[in-house]
Amino acid sequence: MADSTALPTLLKALRLPTMAEQWETLQGEALQANWGFSDYLAALCEQELAERESRRLDRHLKQSQLPLGKTLRAFDFEACPNLNPATLGQLAGDVGWVERAENLLIFGPSGVGKTHLAAAIGHGLIDKGKRVYFTPTTALVQQLQTAKRELRLPEALAKLDKYHLLILDDIGYVKKSEGETSVLFELIAHRYETGSLLITSNHPFSQWDAIFADEMMTVAAIDRVVHHATIIEIQAESYRKRTSMQRRAAMT
Ligand code: ADP
Ligand code: MG
Repeated sequence: MADSTALPTLLKALRLPTMAEQWETLQGEALQANWGFSDYLAALCEQELAERESRRLDRHLKQSQLPLGKTLRAFDFEACPNLNPATLGQLAGDVGWVERAENLLIFGPSGVGKTHLAAAIGHGLIDKGKRVYFTPTTALVQQLQTAKRELRLPEALAKLDKYHLLILDDIGYVKKSEGETSVLFELIAHRYETGSLLITSNHPFSQWDAIFADEMMTVAAIDRVVHHATIIEIQAESYRKRTSMQRRAAMT
């Protein structure tokens, strides 16, 4: 007969911290409600799994650097009549496109919700178990440039492989200078058909030659990005402007 006083130690050794914490409380409930042994064990296992899942979500959310609160639920689709909520719902809730390493491009003028929607899709995919990393494109480009100078660009690119989706916010803010552009191109080439990119931009493709060093690189980058991609164009008034005007109107 095993010794139940050893249970906390045994459970910890098996890396089951929630079971170690809950077994006694749940035993009380089980006795009261007359559960069978296997029901009790199943309930304990369920608690361990639920706790593990919630820790995983927390960890992935933190690592993603996604802006908090920017969810689809918080998005007012009435302000963007040309957007189909179902399309966005599918991109946020259906992991198929990410598993196929497809890309998503969100274009539109400033303040119309590009970053918000990109983040909302990221949140949705994390909930579905995918790994996501959100970054202003300029910040990532700077990191990659440093890595390149230190001759560790391949490692830096490989480190991003663990993310199923990389959100490059505001690609148009990257301005061409030899170094910058080539690391951005190398990133795009590296992700091609192996990992998804979600890119937001104020500028349509016609102005991407301001980002990349020369026309050939611009064409090659666009080619790879759009090969398997969904493109969403937001036509709306700036939400920032709209809300500040509404506030002003309410005050007068
Ligand atoms: P963009 O990236 O296109 O410049 P943002 O996504 O940063 O725009 O949006 C600007 C601000 O307005 C953010 O605080 C965002 O949450 C909010 N916003 C924009 N569009 C909407 C919308 N349709 N519904 C709710 N909030 C919105
Ligand atoms: Mg933005």
